[in-house]
Amino acid sequence: MKKIETLNLSEEDLFSIKSITPLTAEVSEKINYLVKDFGTFERIKPQLDTLTYFQGKKIAFNEARVSFSSSGSTGTPKITPLLFSEVEKNSMIHGFGYSQCGITQNDIVATWGLPGILSSEFTVYLALKHTSCEILPIGEFNKPDRVYETLVKFGATVLLVMPSDLIPLIQFLESSGKKLNNIRLVVAGGEALRDVQKKYFSQYLGENIQFRSVYQSSESGSMGYQCAHCDNNEYHLHHGYQYFELLPLENSDIGELLCTNLWRTWSPIIRFKTGDLVKVTLGTCTCGNNLPRIRILSRMNSVTKLGGERFDYSHIETVIHNLNLDIADFQVQIVSDHKGKDILRFFSNKLFSNSALQNEVIEIFIKKVAKFDQQIRLGVIGRPEFYPYTATSVCKTATGKMKIILDQRGGGTTTIRGKQDRMF
Ligand SMILES: [Zn+2]
Repeated sequence: MKKIETLNLSEEDLFSIKSITPLTAEVSEKINYLVKDFGTFERIKPQLDTLTYFQGKKIAFNEARVSFSSSGSTGTPKITPLLFSEVEKNSMIHGFGYSQCGITQNDIVATWGLPGILSSEFTVYLALKHTSCEILPIGEFNKPDRVYETLVKFGATVLLVMPSDLIPLIQFLESSGKKLNNIRLVVAGGEALRDVQKKYFSQYLGENIQFRSVYQSSESGSMGYQCAHCDNNEYHLHHGYQYFELLPLENSDIGELLCTNLWRTWSPIIRFKTGDLVKVTLGTCTCGNNLPRIRILSRMNSVTKLGGERFDYSHIETVIHNLNLDIADFQVQIVSDHKGKDILRFFSNKLFSNSALQNEVIEIFIKKVAKFDQQIRLGVIGRPEFYPYTATSVCKTATGKMKIILDQRGGGTTTIRGKQDRMF
């Protein structure tokens, strides 16, 4: 086992944060500390409350710095300025995640994407360093036949890629009757890897192909990873690098995941709202990790108008939750017909084939959304429509990401909420 696989953070490491802004008691009280039974964090918590963080202006810079930006698909792009030592620390943690996903020193890893304006993709290389693997850089716009040749020539064993970026290569394999039998593992990031994609991809990859994902955001850095035993949308968390809390929804054991990055000084990340609606799983994972992990249910925030009335996206989350739908195969499109009537279109195989469930969806909206029933009767909004979820029926954003909710009224496609709007 490599050293990083037994990552131990010392007390001194954890408290290398130099200064402080007190967290208000008011905020603290609102938080339900669901995650209680792991010693390190209980030790940290009281100190977190009294720590102060550096204000950017007070730092005497004696090291390199770098700025990243989020994609802005859920609002205005946010800039994250980092000291280079913070980038390196994040990369080490992220590399630990890669190794837990199954990347080893024997692997030849083809990694898609090259840095663009304010993108953090070069940090993938810094992270992979900690797995001691061999790296094959692949540009996302390279021709699939060249990519195929390169992967074969170098004997690539792992693909590190955003699912949408893999599609051109898989389509090439499909049309040319070729296979990449040597590929044993796909590690995804940047967006959710859906079951239909796994099924499709696996026809052209190695016989025992496995799929894993890592979990991170451009603002708060690396947050988690999937081990061999994690289900779809389930992740181990980087406790110790981040401090995680759950902001519960009313009367519920699910809530928004908040994280405090324990290593940032120039641009402190305190109680960062990830926008991910999660459920916490307790107990020891088969891999041996006994710290709390999460299942990501969906993204949350924002409100729009439907037929001129306020419409909260959380109603769609209620549908997902109450009907136990898998977000991997689910999309809602808000469209406007030729007369300007708003319609919610559900793309889900489970809903499409079940009229009782369709009625339940409508019942939920009637209960939750003021005037929903009345608006349908008046013809202000259309009755929800249901379609099968297929590769061609659902929509992607301009950057090729799959989204849960897309507002397509007014011509262009507006992304409301991603399944996982993440960079590597
Ligand atoms: Zn595990």
